[in-house]
Amino acid sequence: MDRKKLIHTAPCPGCNATRGHATEAAQVYECGGCGAIYGSCYQGEASKFYTPVWHEGETRNVQDERYVDLTILSSAGVRRFHGWIHRDSKRITQTG
Ligand SMILES: [Zn+2]
Repeated sequence: MDRKKLIHTAPCPGCNATRGHATEAAQVYECGGCGAIYGSCYQGEASKFYTPVWHEGETRNVQDERYVDLTILSSAGVRRFHGWIHRDSKRITQTG
């Protein structure tokens, strides 16, 4: 049974839904509509959501992917990662 509670969130950059789930990072949400991961977090937290290497192998099924849009804070400054990752490997399938 999925006991994750839906909460009100900022609009999802993927589908504009405003309901989602809290994640391990205080300001990152998982969209209740499309499963996108978005928000802002520290560098160390970003690795919980995606792995910054390319996914290997075929990904032709949209259900296997999720959109990610993170503003990442680190000692080097602020950067943004947005693109698509594979749900299982968390590796990047497409950027931008
Ligand atoms: Zn969404």
